[in-house]
Amino acid sequence: MRTFYITTPIFYPNAKLHLGHAYTTTVSDILARYHRLKGRYAPEEEERVYFLTGSDENTQKILPAAKAVGQRPEDFLEGVVANFKNLFSELDISYDQFIRTSDEKAHWPGAQLLWQKLQASGDIYKKEYEGLYCVGHEAFLTPKDLVDGKCPEHGEVPKVVREENYFFRLSRYSETVRAHIESGEIAIFPETRKHEILSLLREGLQDVSFSRPTSAGSIGVPVPGDKTQVMYVWCDALANYLTALGFGQSDEELYRQFWPAQVHVMGKDILRFHAAIWPAMLLSANLPLPKALLVHGFIVSGGRKMSKSLGNVIDPEELITAYGADALRFYLARHISPFEDSELTRESFKDAYNADLANGLGNLAARILTLAESHLPEPVALPRLAFPREFSEALDRFEVNAAAELIATAVQKLDQKITATAPFKVVKENPEKGRECISELVAGLAAIVVMLEPVIPATARKIWVAIQENKKPETLFLRK
Ligand SMILES: [Zn+2]
Repeated sequence: MRTFYITTPIFYPNAKLHLGHAYTTTVSDILARYHRLKGRYAPEEEERVYFLTGSDENTQKILPAAKAVGQRPEDFLEGVVANFKNLFSELDISYDQFIRTSDEKAHWPGAQLLWQKLQASGDIYKKEYEGLYCVGHEAFLTPKDLVDGKCPEHGEVPKVVREENYFFRLSRYSETVRAHIESGEIAIFPETRKHEILSLLREGLQDVSFSRPTSAGSIGVPVPGDKTQVMYVWCDALANYLTALGFGQSDEELYRQFWPAQVHVMGKDILRFHAAIWPAMLLSANLPLPKALLVHGFIVSGGRKMSKSLGNVIDPEELITAYGADALRFYLARHISPFEDSELTRESFKDAYNADLANGLGNLAARILTLAESHLPEPVALPRLAFPREFSEALDRFEVNAAAELIATAVQKLDQKITATAPFKVVKENPEKGRECISELVAGLAAIVVMLEPVIPATARKIWVAIQENKKPETLFLRK
């Protein structure tokens, strides 16, 4: 049986999840659900799916964040992870596993095994390093990153840090990684991001720091055989895609089944790590490469990136509370591009909600099932259902917005069909013909529900039940 392993990045637990995180996770969920459903309509296409998300906990940012609220770091993390899981549960995210990189049993042995493989290939070496370290970034910056001597993102003067680090010989892999991306062996969606990373690879990569001294207060996975060092952010974090499957543990069954990943989903800000460092690590460790990277843009509001200082931040929880989780899922699916930056304002959200869901889908389902309840003696025997070919093709290209557009078009067309055929009149003049008309509309609605299932699963379930019970559903979406 074919497998489909899909991952989100692991998220930093020093702050709440924002709309960008909700987007990454919702898109991943839509794709995971679509792949799980494929076999229902076409048994020969059945796939085994594994959907991974999680949190990146080996970060120094946790310490000040925990201190600020007077908690121990472990307790602070428990609370934040509970919030992450709560948002994902509200959003109906059907992940199979939530990995936490602070998990010494699940994550550390695999991360250390990966390190040993890099070492065995001669790609890990120790060197004295002096650099400008920004605590906010948790990274070394170069002088050209600074504006007036400060980190432009964090507004702080970076510390000059001199320390011994282990380095990964990334420079050795520029050419091989480039060849794998150019040939499409690692497919990058969209094309523009592929070109962006290829030009970076053509310039050549520099070796990167892969550890930090414990004396600098770093927390995380200990470097095998050197108690004075812990693994550095990316080396530890990227390994989660393997360790979640049991890589380096006694039971590697999932790893054997699911690696390599079909797709890693991420925002454009972390493309470089996934398209340069990660493939290089896998090549060095002699492990298979992921098949594809889906790299989405940012959600902006009023043409600008959401930020506290601009006061244009919209919290996903706020939208879920006001409109419901499926309303947020549908907006993200239809109106946010999986490839480019997109707009979301409170006004655009409300307008889209009313048009797409309250006056669109919700009204359509109510009209059809009211007719069915009044005029059909029993539930409609549905024809064989399947994902429309165009819908599958859109999702196979990760174009979730194009797939959602097909739903919107189908809703419109079915609505026009009601107006054109006027079944409420026909049923009075010619009851048999009227019932035929209404049955056709119910079948048309069922065909839409097939497409709704991966996108807004809770609403899809409600409409299914209503069709099966031949009853008008409770109001699906109240007009706002
Ligand atoms: Zn910074």
